[in-house]
This record gives sequence, C-alpha cells and structure tokens, in this order.
Amino acid sequence: MDNELFLESEREYMVETQLLPRRIRDGLVLQVMRTVPRHLFVPPEYRHLAYTDGPLPIGFGQTISQPYIVALMSQLLELKGQERLLEVGTGSGYQAAVLGYLAGEVHTIERFPELARQAEQTLAELGLENVSVHIGDGTAGLLEFAPYQGIIVTAAAPHVPQALLDQLADGGRLVIPVGERGSQFLERWRRRGDDFDVEEVIPVAFVPLVGQFGWRD
Ligand code: SAM
Repeated sequence: MDNELFLESEREYMVETQLLPRRIRDGLVLQVMRTVPRHLFVPPEYRHLAYTDGPLPIGFGQTISQPYIVALMSQLLELKGQERLLEVGTGSGYQAAVLGYLAGEVHTIERFPELARQAEQTLAELGLENVSVHIGDGTAGLLEFAPYQGIIVTAAAPHVPQALLDQLADGGRLVIPVGERGSQFLERWRRRGDDFDVEEVIPVAFVPLVGQFGWRD
C-alpha cells in the first residue's frame, strides 16, 4: 500500500475506534480529524505512534494531546467556520491546525520559543495561512486580536485567568482544564453579556499552564 493511503487508513481507524465510540459527533470535526496529518507534528522517533490513543512527548517536558482530547475540545467550541480563535499552548501546533480548518482565524501562543518556531514551520508546510503563532505568556491572553468567539487552553490552570474571560466575545466559548497539578476537569465557559455559564465536561490530566496568572514554574 502506498504511504499516503496507509496514513489515511490509520486516521480512519483512529476516528472509528477512538472518536466515534466516545461521542465525537460534529461532522466537521470528524472530517478534519480524518485529514490533518498528525504524524507531521510528532518527533520522528514517535511517528509510528502518531495515530495511537494517547499523548506523545514533543520535547521541553511537553506533549501533543491525545487525538480524542483534541477532537473533544474542538467540538466543545461549536464552530461554524468564521470565528476568530485564541489557543493558549501551541505545543506541536496540531490542535491549532485542526482549528485552522474549522474556523476563520486562529491565534496560538506558546511560552517555549523553540516549540513555537517548530509549530510555525509545520503549519506553514501545510499551507495554513489563517493560523498565526505567537511567543509569550498566554495566561494574559492576547489582547491585540481580542475579542475571540472561542478560546481554548491546552494546559492545566489552577483557576480561569480573568484576562481570558475578558477577551471572550459575547456568546463566545472558553474551553480549559482547571484543577490541581496532575488532575483537572475540562470546563466550558460561555459568555452571556457580563455573565458566564460554566459546565464541567470530563476529568483530564494536562501539563501545567505556567505563567503570571497560572502556575509558577
Ligand atoms: N495544543 C498542543 C498540541 O496540539 O500539540 C499541546 C499543548 S501541550 C499539552 C501544552 C502547551 O502549553 C505546552 O507546549 C506548554 O509549553 C504550553 N504552555 C504552558 N503554559 C503556557 C503559557 N502560560 N503560555 C503559553 N503556552 C503555555
């Protein structure tokens, strides 16, 4: 079998065994998960595991999230295609790529410059011109492009940073793991004027969100 066909079948298998049984139902999210080449975001020594059911190391003590978590967080944003989004925690750039195909404009911010540069290169190779990578502490959000119809935080916060709530557009959704180091709940916040609804989705375990309004290093 030719390599591209093999990778396509690996992604299809990932969707059928990891996403559909866990209630990923958004047709666009499923379609994007079938097409984004996760193996390009994974270091060469882990590439053979790119479509398996778990996170993988990407250097600097950080990880690329499990495919199911990427799909779930994307689905929770309820995207229609035109939104401007902020992602805090670029990591490999995989989640940003998925969002790039689901929304109008994506800003993603990473505290490790080396990870940000590597992600930027991979995203450019895929021709994703609507995704911009920024270097910095995302616990303060990214005021320059606010407000955002969706914000996604892919590292665990001790509490929701106020700046992220402030930078959410009316009706916008914020998806963020909140809790202790090592175990958290994935939360979805929804802005209604000056009020916010919040729901707990599932227990998760993310690497810490380190910064001024997150955990201290
Ligand atoms: N979304 C990533 C992907 O698709 O590969 C996975 C992200 S990894 C689980 C969490 C990332 O958040 C790490 O790369 C980490 O360096 C970054 N991070 C932690 N604290 C941050 C902060 N205050 N600002 C920006 N990035 C941060």
